Amino acid sequence: MTLSKSAAVLMAALLVAAAAQGWHDPGHQRTTRLALAALPESMPSFLADGADTIAHLAFEPDVFRALMDDTDLDRTESPQHYFDLEHLEGVDIPTARFDMLRWCGRNNLRPDQVGLAPYAIVEWTQRLTSALAEHRAWPDNPHIRTKCLVYAGLLAHYAQDICQPLHTTVHYDGRLDEAGRSPTSGIHQKVDALIGKLPDDLDLAIDPVAAQPLDDLFAGIIAEIRSSHARVDRLYELEDQLPDPDESLQADSPVGRFAAERARAAATFTARLYATAWRDSASIEIPPWHDRSAEPSPPATQPAAAPATMPAGGG
Ligand SMILES: [Zn+2]
Repeated sequence: MTLSKSAAVLMAALLVAAAAQGWHDPGHQRTTRLALAALPESMPSFLADGADTIAHLAFEPDVFRALMDDTDLDRTESPQHYFDLEHLEGVDIPTARFDMLRWCGRNNLRPDQVGLAPYAIVEWTQRLTSALAEHRAWPDNPHIRTKCLVYAGLLAHYAQDICQPLHTTVHYDGRLDEAGRSPTSGIHQKVDALIGKLPDDLDLAIDPVAAQPLDDLFAGIIAEIRSSHARVDRLYELEDQLPDPDESLQADSPVGRFAAERARAAATFTARLYATAWRDSASIEIPPWHDRSAEPSPPATQPAAAPATMPAGGG
C-alpha cells in the first residue's frame, strides 16, 4: 500500500537522520536518573529532585541536530558528540578546545574528523560549576536552580555519548575500508539502542561510593574515553548478536551484559562529573559586583482573584 510504503520511507529517513547520535532518548534518560540516584548526600537535593527535568535535557543535544538538520547548529554540534582516538595515538592531547583546533590545523585534520567531545564535557562541567557556585551564594534563588538542572542535563548527554564505544573510533559504523570510507553497516544505530532495550526491572543502580569527583577533569575525561575505546573490538565481536530495531534484548545475554556494563559506566561517569562540578564550585569567588539576591521569584501559586485596581505604573 502507498501509505505503508511512505511510512517505510519516512522510517528509513528518520533512521538515517538518527545515525551517530549516541544512546537513544530512553538510554540517556535512564543513565541520567541512575547518576542522580547515586549522588553523595553532600550535594544539594534539588538536583535529584529535578531528575525529570535533567533526564529530559539529557537528550537535547541530539534534538538540536535532529530538528535543525543541515544547519550551522547541526554542523557545530555534531563533532561535540565523539572523539576518535585513532587520530591521536602517541599525541599529548591538547586540553583546551582552541589548542585542539590549532593541533588539527597543523596536522591537516578537520576538527569534525577527530571530534570535540572532551571539550564539550569540560565546558559544560565548568558551566555547571559556575551555576552551582551561584547556588551556594543564593540557595533560594529559583532561577539558579533551574539553570543548574538545564546544564546538568546537557552535560549528561556529552558524558554518556563517549561511553558508547563507537563514539571513540573512526570505525563508528562498521570497519573503514582500505580507502578510509565507512561502510555505514548499521551497527551504530543498533548499539545506540541497546541501553533503551534493557528490561525496565533490571537493577542497574551504581554504587554511590563510585560517584567521586575526578582528581583532574580533563585527564578523567580522556581516561573514560580510553576505557570506552577499549571495548570497540568486543563490540565488533558481538556484532552478529546485536538486536534489530524491533527485537528485544535479553539481560543475561552477552550483548545484554555489555549494555548493562556501559549503562553503569555512563551513569557513574555522569555522577562523577556532577560531583566534580559541586566540589569545584566551592572555590569559585563571586565578584562583589555580581549580585543575584534581589531577583524576582516566579509567581508563586497566586489566588485566582485579580486585584481590584492595577498597581501604579502597571500595564
Ligand atoms: Zn549525541
